[in-house]
Amino acid sequence: MDSNTDIKYLKGVGSARAAEFNKLGVDTVDALLHFYPRNYEDWSKIVSIKDAPVDENCCIRAVVSHTPTKHLIKGGRTLYKTSVTDGRGVLNLTFFNNKYIPQMLKENEEYLFYGKVLYSRIGVREMLSPMFIKAQQNDKIRPIYHATSRLSSRTIEKCVAEALKHIDEIITDPLPVEFLEKYRLCPLKDALKAVHFPADNAELEKGRRRLIFDELFYLQMGLIRLKDKNRQTENRHIIKNDYTAEFIKTLPFELTDAQKRSIDEAVRDMASEKSMNRLLQGDVGSGKTAVAAALIYTVAKNKMQSALMAPTEVLSEQHFRTFKEMFRGTDLKIELLTGSTKAKEKREIKEKIKNGETDLVIGTHAIIQQDVEFCRLGFVVTDEQHRFGVNQRTVLREKGESPHVLVMSATPIPRTLALIIYGDLDVSVLDEMPRGRIKTETYFVTGEYHERIYNFIKKHLDSGLQAFIVCPLVSEGESDLVPAKEYYEKLSSTVFSGYKVGLLHGQMKGAEKDAVMKSFANNEIQLLISTVVIEVGIDVPNAALIVIENAERFGLSQLHQLRGRVGRGNAKSTCILVSDSAGETARQRFDIMCSTTDGFKIADEDLKMRGPGDFFGSKQHGLPQLKIASLLSDNELLMLSRNAAAALLRDDSEMEKEEHRLIRRQVNKMFTQPSI
Ligand code: ADP
Ligand code: MG
Repeated sequence: MDSNTDIKYLKGVGSARAAEFNKLGVDTVDALLHFYPRNYEDWSKIVSIKDAPVDENCCIRAVVSHTPTKHLIKGGRTLYKTSVTDGRGVLNLTFFNNKYIPQMLKENEEYLFYGKVLYSRIGVREMLSPMFIKAQQNDKIRPIYHATSRLSSRTIEKCVAEALKHIDEIITDPLPVEFLEKYRLCPLKDALKAVHFPADNAELEKGRRRLIFDELFYLQMGLIRLKDKNRQTENRHIIKNDYTAEFIKTLPFELTDAQKRSIDEAVRDMASEKSMNRLLQGDVGSGKTAVAAALIYTVAKNKMQSALMAPTEVLSEQHFRTFKEMFRGTDLKIELLTGSTKAKEKREIKEKIKNGETDLVIGTHAIIQQDVEFCRLGFVVTDEQHRFGVNQRTVLREKGESPHVLVMSATPIPRTLALIIYGDLDVSVLDEMPRGRIKTETYFVTGEYHERIYNFIKKHLDSGLQAFIVCPLVSEGESDLVPAKEYYEKLSSTVFSGYKVGLLHGQMKGAEKDAVMKSFANNEIQLLISTVVIEVGIDVPNAALIVIENAERFGLSQLHQLRGRVGRGNAKSTCILVSDSAGETARQRFDIMCSTTDGFKIADEDLKMRGPGDFFGSKQHGLPQLKIASLLSDNELLMLSRNAAAALLRDDSEMEKEEHRLIRRQVNKMFTQPSI
């Protein structure tokens, strides 16, 4: 037997069970040993019947008072009842439809029972269908595995025990002994034994530590290598002189330290031997545009062109206005290129880009797909990164002669996580807001307050400000929702009949959407009723109020993004969350929203409440699936393994040394498995 032996050859498995194991992703004996329990039953901590907590899993050691008796109940079901005692209390047991119970539980013998203690209607303590095993001298922690309907956790446990007998043939530790000593890790075989059948919690922890370390270590080895490969591109657009200071002087405000730091990091990249691949991450309103502008300016002064891409035409136009204003006092030439640019004008613009007259082109990602030829494209910026896929990132790199790339994202991710998710990018973080921002006040109310909300909106509109109302869905006939369209028709013909009201939803065509957004930006629409399509990037500083209906339908990060549409101007802004059916977790989200406007704090909370899989949506980032490590809670091991991976790759970048051969195999294996 070796690590590649098919699971069906393991004693007690065979082809039928092997098929079930395959469903769980287990095909070899090695995979079985790495199929970790999803949880444990602690049979080692025994409580007395008297002290057993109610409604929580616990373990009781007790003697059976009498052979279980059979009772027939309605519907042809059979119950078996008995009682057990541990000398200090009596516990009733009830089992359903299991005719073997009287044979399995013998009078006067001692067993361990694992389950929840409840109070029966007559006030007696009881357990319903507890798990049980015969009591032994040393009782232990038992594994619980993910099971299928035909393969129980108990069967898996037996198979694992069988495989562990052959562990010396199956497992070779990929990590050298000195390495284990250096990072205080236990040998892999011990770790596997401990994680399946721990003698106690301390041993379990030691085993888990090693296995979590391994997973994070191989993951990061792979990511660091990927990043190095991406960064291998030679820098053909070296920034010889840094003109950012010259530009910064022209700004009407003082940059935050975070903005200065990010600019420096990027300039250093662009002056180095390798081209830049950097993520600029900052909460809504943290001032990413100014960072990009300083870099674009310095690139232009070094006689190279830049392209800035936004996910929609509306955002492109918005950026065009902003940059025109920012570069007013300079000689930089800016062009806007979108789907609605007229053919003749388009030709002229393309000509100017080609002959190098233009310093900066702003547009949707059509710029990279279309036949736009640059004279000397040195720098590409993409805004609101989560709308651009990884593939587009690659196209970008290939456009022109590997220009420097800056990806700007408003999705705040804790830094450690960003290191992993954007493993192929370097990361700068704007973790500081410009001074003097007025915080947006956030309130949570129920639907009874609608009349007051409408009056509040009117007050805003009357004073010249604008407002949003966000509804979750458009006409899907869900009874508990107020579909945006109907809502729009109702409000615009009644309460707000004297005002200019607009509607924006996801089923509108791109051009229609853009037209509505443009009217809103120009204050031709005062109140915009919308679905979540306004979530990204829209900057209308005159909008100072956002009302979010059915707020329980939105996730925390989404609520935060929506709220980010206001609080961008000089007026004090307000966000009102309306919900009539908020459960416990929705309330928790509202509490967080009302208590903080810090996007990083909110992202942290969101991660805690939802887990990273949900947080990033499926497959978006293409990370390998993790079996035991958590990107959230294993922070210390994340950093330790990161350092270990970096140190090893510094010493042996291709993992070619004999003692690193098995490590390389693990890394490759991890990156060929299906991703989350
Ligand atoms: P985002 O990071 O969301 O893209 P923007 O770049 O649109 O944010 O900046 C939001 C607003 O803050 C803009 O009006 C911008 O001019 C302003 N701003 C940027 N940096 C500063 C600063 N250091 N001090 C004051 N205002 C700033
Ligand atoms: Mg922005």
